[in-house]
Amino acid sequence: MSLFIQNATLTFPDGRDRLTALDKVSLGVADGELVALTGPSGSGKSSLLAVAGTLITPDSGTVRIGDKQVEDMSARERARIRREEVGFVFQADNLLPSLTAVEQLLLTVSMRGGKPAKHRGEAMALLEEVGMADSAERRPHELSGGMRQRVNIARAMMGTPSLLLIDEPTSALDSERSRAVITLIAELVRRRNLAAVLVSHDLESLAPGTPTGVDATVVITDGRIESVQSHLAAA
Ligand code: ADP
Ligand code: MG
Repeated sequence: MSLFIQNATLTFPDGRDRLTALDKVSLGVADGELVALTGPSGSGKSSLLAVAGTLITPDSGTVRIGDKQVEDMSARERARIRREEVGFVFQADNLLPSLTAVEQLLLTVSMRGGKPAKHRGEAMALLEEVGMADSAERRPHELSGGMRQRVNIARAMMGTPSLLLIDEPTSALDSERSRAVITLIAELVRRRNLAAVLVSHDLESLAPGTPTGVDATVVITDGRIESVQSHLAAA
């Protein structure tokens, strides 16, 4: 589902003051669009994802997911949106050491109160989609960093979310594997018509003309959008 953030300001307590993590940030992501978000450490990238995914309510400004205004939702409705519509991929893969790849995906079903056995087909299809079908029975220590991130991405796709929020998935990967992971994300976005925000420091892979499939790059500095560059014209 499309994402539309308008004039979002987010502050955190900071001693006697408040620290401004997001300063009147606006961002729109259409269905089927992959927007890369980049900027220095501490510039507000993770905060913006948290606001986009309804994990944090901004002090002011509006967030719309699909045709719903987040401010108008009850806490319960927000939780439902997060559970059913939003897929999160955090920087650390957060895979459980004792579970196989397919079990990592099925755990999300139990956590939502569903029956894992009923979702095995969905989990296997997702592992296939990210090129991990042959590793479905392997545990994290038997997988490379790139493979773990693929499982992590597949897990975020369980339950067919329509908004995908991904925080620095390639920070532990070399440039070739980073590019492959970003390309995979772009393919998922197209195939499933997702709206997606990808936080990445990997400017090399995000460069205009690089065929990773990122539609636009947004640069954020000190909580403010510094530039928005569309890659459609440049490609
Ligand atoms: P980035 O992801 O770009 O590194 P963050 O969004 O994590 O940036 O952080 C933006 C700013 O907000 C930083 O100054 C950070 O220290 C501050 N910040 C983030 N989360 C919190 C929090 N929960 N409490 C207080 N300050 C926070
Ligand atoms: Mg961050």
